[in-house]
Amino acid sequence: MPELPEVEITVNSLKPKILNQKITGVWFDVPNFIKIPSPKEFEKEIKNLEIKDIKRLGKNILIFLSQNKVLLIHQKLTGHLLYGKWQKKKNRWISSETTSFLAKDPQNRFIHFILFLKNKKMLVLSDQRKFAKIILISKEKLFQLKEIKELGIDALDPNFTFEKLKEIVKKAKTPIKKILMDQTKIAGIGNIYSDEILWEAKINPKRPANSLKENELKNLYQAIEKILRKAINTQGSSIIDWRKINGSKGDYGEIRKVYRREGKKCFRCGSIIKKIKFGNRSSYYCPKCQK
Ligand SMILES: [Zn+2]
Repeated sequence: MPELPEVEITVNSLKPKILNQKITGVWFDVPNFIKIPSPKEFEKEIKNLEIKDIKRLGKNILIFLSQNKVLLIHQKLTGHLLYGKWQKKKNRWISSETTSFLAKDPQNRFIHFILFLKNKKMLVLSDQRKFAKIILISKEKLFQLKEIKELGIDALDPNFTFEKLKEIVKKAKTPIKKILMDQTKIAGIGNIYSDEILWEAKINPKRPANSLKENELKNLYQAIEKILRKAINTQGSSIIDWRKINGSKGDYGEIRKVYRREGKKCFRCGSIIKKIKFGNRSSYYCPKCQK
């Protein structure tokens, strides 16, 4: 699933392309994506609105539109936004840029949602498993949405201080990995980066959050910013499905330390990286140097 770094990269690279563009139409074949309003209403309402701004909030993409509307896109498990030109051939959308990653990488061919722009380009959602969520709502009502209202502090918010992390962790007996991934506590971190952060901080993912000592918390706090910034600077993780808006892969997957490296050697101590079940997810860690 795209996490904070991937959503940040998507938003930052879309901004110069789509700002001030008018939406001239929409196409989708998975009506289930559209949670608010009804898919029929959505089609009517979004037409002719102009894109005023685009921001990231946790893992949500917020596209601010004219008439005080906001388009919320959550890419969920396998969704990613792409930008370019496509043509419909025999019921399938084919990228017009035939030599590009948009055309060549199969992961970019699950096209189920398109916004057509005035400049003749398209903003497209490729989503293999079709879990993405799209909402069109007024700005006032956006912050009343449960998923927005209940979001915890953003992991890269300047107000996310060491004291704030201590406060979040202090009250929780649950494993620290779970706390890191809990969007109502800290927004933006998911399965990949929680594992990477905990390896960096030398903390076992199963440790009860409130058992972490002051110096461990300090390491954790520093690791959160370090890993997320590193992931942004290396253009995100494309280990399975996520891609950049031009369809190409990010590089963080190549330099990751633990995620999906079970059976391989720890880069720090040489022990074998383990995979454990963690609720309905998996966690990867080094049993020797993560205490
Ligand atoms: Zn190790």
